[in-house]
Amino acid sequence: MSAPFIVHDPRFSRLMIGHARLDTLWTGGRWVEGPVYMPAAKSLLWSDIPNDRVMRLDECDGSVGVFEAPCGFHNGHTLDAQGRVIACEHGGRQISRLDHDGVWRALVSHVGDKRLNSPNDVVAHSDGSIWFTDPTYGIDSHYEGHQATPELASCDVYRLDPESGALTAVVTDMLRPNGLCFSPDERLLYVSDTGKTHDESHDPVIRVYPIGADGRPGEGRTFARSPNGFFDGFRCDREGNVWASNANAVCVYAPDGTHIGSIPIPEMVANLCFGGPRRNRLYITAQTSLYAIYVNAHGAGWTG
Ligand code: MG
Repeated sequence: MSAPFIVHDPRFSRLMIGHARLDTLWTGGRWVEGPVYMPAAKSLLWSDIPNDRVMRLDECDGSVGVFEAPCGFHNGHTLDAQGRVIACEHGGRQISRLDHDGVWRALVSHVGDKRLNSPNDVVAHSDGSIWFTDPTYGIDSHYEGHQATPELASCDVYRLDPESGALTAVVTDMLRPNGLCFSPDERLLYVSDTGKTHDESHDPVIRVYPIGADGRPGEGRTFARSPNGFFDGFRCDREGNVWASNANAVCVYAPDGTHIGSIPIPEMVANLCFGGPRRNRLYITAQTSLYAIYVNAHGAGWTG
């Protein structure tokens, strides 16, 4: 049986396990997104956006059930440094947090007096700040939220200080910022732009921004161009390789931007994260299903 991955560069071979296979763990969603691994709960959460629910995989017995429904059309998730789930809500057009008492609390919903568009993906910085993208996909139609006219003139990336509530637009040169993550040392911020959905001439790229001494992103540059689709969500491993969703594949890029390999997936990939006790199991949300494959790489950060 041939390996379930394609090597473009020898650096990819050692990141993969030749006899590992792609597992289909669950199917039955409409557009699944936003996976987050919860180490202490040995569980994975992800969104089934059009069905307005959050699903949960129990890693101990492989069972899958509904975690929250309705949920306000969650999209992206992450964990903060205290292990609390942070969610992007299309419906509420806000970032919310599941506190340890089991109550969801909104962290931010407005820029000044204007509502956010529809927060899409989110990551937590080790300084406690929460960074998220705010494209319009959750208000473009009634499919993934509630259709509405944007109140903001642009789609930006924001940094939220949840302690003070201070919200700052930190990346403002994109059409539809979507996935994002930090490099393992947090000196780089990667952001994908899926603006091609609204402007055919727009390049589907991941851009990379150096984080300056002031903690803000500097001038960005193109890190990778999608070979045949869009980059949606992505994550870094501990060596700084970028594992990115792209059409019907996970495409992996070395820190220098070289496309070193791909993992074909039977459906269109939306997002991914590393999980398992060693963060060496790549969980992939793709269209209607949840997939996973063990790899010889480990997710960056304590949550992977
Ligand atoms: Mg996304």
